[in-house]
Amino acid sequence: MALDDILTRIRKAEAAAGRRDGSVTLIAVSKVQPLDRVEAVLAEGHRVFGENYVQEAAGKWPDLRARFGAVRLHMIGPLQTNKAKVALDLFDAIHTLDRPSLADKLARLADERGRCPKLFVQVNTGREPQKAGVLPEETDAFIARCGDLGLPLAGLMCIPPEGEPSGPHFALLREMAGRNGLNGLSMGMSADFEDAIAHGATHVRVGSAIFGARSYG
Ligand SMILES: *Cc1c(COP(=O)(O)O)cnc(C)c1O
Repeated sequence: MALDDILTRIRKAEAAAGRRDGSVTLIAVSKVQPLDRVEAVLAEGHRVFGENYVQEAAGKWPDLRARFGAVRLHMIGPLQTNKAKVALDLFDAIHTLDRPSLADKLARLADERGRCPKLFVQVNTGREPQKAGVLPEETDAFIARCGDLGLPLAGLMCIPPEGEPSGPHFALLREMAGRNGLNGLSMGMSADFEDAIAHGATHVRVGSAIFGARSYG
């Protein structure tokens, strides 16, 4: 089964990097996958999943959680400010904190509730205009602002540009996290999660290598 294979490869990459066994969390990215594929991975015992769309996640996970028990859900897609409230109730972690207005909104909601998901700041390491994320030179100031707001930052997240080696982006993210005293590194997908682990990833986001290709539409 693909899940076993990916978990084995993660454990090998941890060992190769001199990392503790189990120090990397596998987030199984289930966005737009048919329900039977998601149920199969749940039936195998996996309990950490990633979703990109609040509406899609809200439509399927309450029922899956009722049937399969506690599941840790990670929001890994762009988060609109007007969906922040629903996201806060649904997700255990949000990897896409990428702008001051969202930080302000999350801080306000977290204050009201007395709790907040774990937060990762998304950094646009490739400075791609179409991609979300804080620019590298703005990241330190943004992290400080989140700290002033009392937000629980777990780490940094990046999505390297396609068609470029990921390694330099992973290395940059690690460097930025280190100088800001953050431990979490959400980086690495189906094509490059082993390289990400070599660079210190604590959370890898793997979709198609577990579930098969996604079909949209
Ligand atoms: C879809 C997605 C993934 C998973 O991508 P795969 O290549 O299928 O592993 C990981 N991270 C983010 C942010 C995604 O949107």
